[in-house]
Amino acid sequence: MRLIEGVHLVGSGEMRLSEAHDGHVYLLDCGSELALVDCGAGLDIRPLLANLRADGFDPVDIGYILLTHAHADHAGGCRALKEIGGAEVLCSAYEGRLLAEGSDEELGLNVARRAGIYPPDYVYRHVTPDRIVEHGQLLTLGRCEVQVLIVPGHSPAAACFLVTLGGRRILFSGDTVFHRGTIGLGNWAGSSLGAYRRFIGRLSGLGVDVLLPGHFMWALAGGQEHLDAAVRNLEEAWVPPAWQHYHPHR
Ligand SMILES: [Zn+2]
Repeated sequence: MRLIEGVHLVGSGEMRLSEAHDGHVYLLDCGSELALVDCGAGLDIRPLLANLRADGFDPVDIGYILLTHAHADHAGGCRALKEIGGAEVLCSAYEGRLLAEGSDEELGLNVARRAGIYPPDYVYRHVTPDRIVEHGQLLTLGRCEVQVLIVPGHSPAAACFLVTLGGRRILFSGDTVFHRGTIGLGNWAGSSLGAYRRFIGRLSGLGVDVLLPGHFMWALAGGQEHLDAAVRNLEEAWVPPAWQHYHPHR
């Protein structure tokens, strides 16, 4: 489904758009190039492929997968999608190592499985990334300018992607910041309040119009307000509002 010019939501478990364990999966239409932002848990990629086709895209044409981080609900489908059209997988170095060989503990998967977020027999399909991206790096994909922002906190080297397209500034924030400025602080290895405090400033002053997180609602205008709320909350004395316990597939 088209959210704005150039961006389609093609997967989401909680919106019942694709398999129940998938985080939001976005298709970024850069004209001559197509990129996915994250790729779901991989338990069943068929709904995702059907959504791509329904919106007029051939999955074989996807050239890039921009991964915000290696958690299973975002990256578990990476290998299966890559096998379809040979898309290049781009992510930060640390998340890339987790993607390629992270243990269940490093991936937070032991905690998530215990919490009933994944089926007990869920197996993470590792894949080696094709390209490692650094903080501040600029990528040009067709008509899209993509700036990489590494903001550790939810996971050790989670990336946000700031895309300039059609006069809009669009931030794919993964699980780093959600609607209304809640953050993805979790109680598993790799998530860190200290890292959030240290790095959240990287999301200040970006002039974001459209905020497209990995879960929950998005904002099609005024996106920066949600980021500023997260920055402010992390300056307060108490643990900031974080991910609400929301497991729609239970
Ligand atoms: Zn995550």
